[in-house]
Amino acid sequence: MALACHENLISLGEVYQVLRMGPTYWLNRQEHLCSCGAPAHQCEFWQPVLTKMRSLDIIEPTKPSYYPDAYSALLGQFAKLYSSEYQPIDTSKGIKHLKLLAGSDTIDAKALFLIRDVRSYASSQARLARSQPRKGLKKVKGHYWYQMLRWLTDNKKRESLLKELALPFRTIGYEPFCFNPSQTLDNVYEFLALPKVPSHENMKQSTHHVLFGNPMRNCDKRKSEIRYDDRWFSETKYMLPAALMPTLMQYNQARVYAKL
Ligand SMILES: [Zn+2]
Repeated sequence: MALACHENLISLGEVYQVLRMGPTYWLNRQEHLCSCGAPAHQCEFWQPVLTKMRSLDIIEPTKPSYYPDAYSALLGQFAKLYSSEYQPIDTSKGIKHLKLLAGSDTIDAKALFLIRDVRSYASSQARLARSQPRKGLKKVKGHYWYQMLRWLTDNKKRESLLKELALPFRTIGYEPFCFNPSQTLDNVYEFLALPKVPSHENMKQSTHHVLFGNPMRNCDKRKSEIRYDDRWFSETKYMLPAALMPTLMQYNQARVYAKL
């Protein structure tokens, strides 16, 4: 949402989730609005994309060629509608989607790897687990050490996947982003080879066609809405596992708070 405030970036939301349902589903869903305010069959971006997919018989998500063909129809329309200075943002998060983009000869994708402080992550996951009734082994999810190890394993897996796919990526710490969004966004713009926005006051215009994903609001509101959940600041339960797992804490420091 914050990225789409750059005037050369246009958010298309979770593209993979839109494609997964097939073009007919969205064209018939008149009550569901795109973030531009129009339903899919009237949206200046999705209407031509979905219609083109149907006319080229790109309608069956189980076919192996479906997603590459659908992405190519989508990017073709993007190029037609916007000049080459613009780049689309796809907020899809799945592994399948990353593999698809990395495997394409025609898509020049870059990934942003957002990683949150392990103490904040463990605190919210443990809190969530404890609020749900669990029995037996599943009770382990309420423990900080379990959540911290899970954070490490999952992030290492994601990182090696990105490396294995040879997808250019940049790691973004969630905490530096929340506490210093301007600096973090400038780093991302540099990674995306975009012109720096001289002043963030100028980021009022934003183009988006989000059919699936977080709804967009205007940039002014969005900036003031970056709010950090700091409940873990007053907790102490992460301290013992943190002291016992120094390598994990070094990984946390290196990834979340790296000087870019
Ligand atoms: Zn739209």
